[in-house]
Amino acid sequence: MHSENHSKKPYDPAHHIQRIYVQESCKDFSYTKEILERARHIPYEIIADDAIPDLHAGPYPHSLNTGKHHLLLCRNRGHFFKPCPGTKEYRCCDYQVLNIGMNCPMDCVYCILQAYLNNPWLSFFVNVEDLLAELELACTSTSQFWRIGTGEFTDSLALDSLTALSTILVPFMRDKKTAVLELKTKSVAIDHLSGLDHGGRTIIAWSLNSPSIMAREEIRTASLEERLAAAVQCADWGYTLAFHFDPVIYHDGWREGYSHTIKKLFSTVPADKIAWISLGALRFLPSLRPIALGRFPKSNFFHEEFVLGLDNKYRYFRGLRVEMYQHILGELRKRVSHNTCIYFCMESDEIWQECGFPEGAAQNLPDNLDKAAKAVR
Ligand code: SF4
Repeated sequence: MHSENHSKKPYDPAHHIQRIYVQESCKDFSYTKEILERARHIPYEIIADDAIPDLHAGPYPHSLNTGKHHLLLCRNRGHFFKPCPGTKEYRCCDYQVLNIGMNCPMDCVYCILQAYLNNPWLSFFVNVEDLLAELELACTSTSQFWRIGTGEFTDSLALDSLTALSTILVPFMRDKKTAVLELKTKSVAIDHLSGLDHGGRTIIAWSLNSPSIMAREEIRTASLEERLAAAVQCADWGYTLAFHFDPVIYHDGWREGYSHTIKKLFSTVPADKIAWISLGALRFLPSLRPIALGRFPKSNFFHEEFVLGLDNKYRYFRGLRVEMYQHILGELRKRVSHNTCIYFCMESDEIWQECGFPEGAAQNLPDNLDKAAKAVR
């Protein structure tokens, strides 16, 4: 698996999806037809709504290798819009998840989806009118300010060259005065964002890491240089940006690696266009480790020492987390704009304080992010 990384171009579904499956009840949607037209070189078949794609790929999770090349266009029968499943034990940012599909065509060794999902294929929801109706209701039924993201159960943009969902969501958000949409990605599939009337309501975000982690542990993702070039292009198109150092991973040369990425970030991207930057050290459900090591036996970052947290996830010991955070924060604080909100994802209030955040910063996180979203436009 590790051979399929940055020796080649970043992920393009046009070259990686081998087969598309369409649920019978979705085959006549105009949106489905548009996607199939864009994907006309990829074979597809209609399957019954209660059937599953037959990949002939053995049991989960080994079938993931094959599943990531197979795309099911289907109906979401549940809710599209839900609060992010944070935990009460750690400080959370009150994010709202817009669920556009399940599973991701890229393949990060640490990806929690490997333990969270039970289907190996990619699902993308084509009942987009139901999605928009729910989003409209959420944005108009309360005066609460929502930060909404589509990157919880998949990558926000990796399939966008086929689905063009951004061309629907971005203009839809344009007039929503009480919300912003964050599209979070490790791809550079930004072509459809060009020329959209976004009204400053969509934030384009990239996850960043140390270069060696990006090269070794994030298969089919774009390189640092490619991600930052795409960010500059989006800033030129007037979009606000955000970045996520998540997961921060302990590895040989981590100090130099994270320093390099941060220097490169601020020498490339306009700092005053960045609404927020998050940090989150590696954390994972116990069930993830055997799955990831089974799929990626050469990966070695799972062999460090971890402690089981109150949310039943393994984390690095507190001292190591603080050491890594302090280093990264030191590099960021030298360069960041005063409008950018730096925050931790899923950390305790004690860690916030130990890392030099002012009193109340953790408790006020949702407000501070809302302010940052409004300030950087
Ligand atoms: S890009 Fe995100 S969703 Fe996709 S495999 Fe990597 S961690 Fe998982």
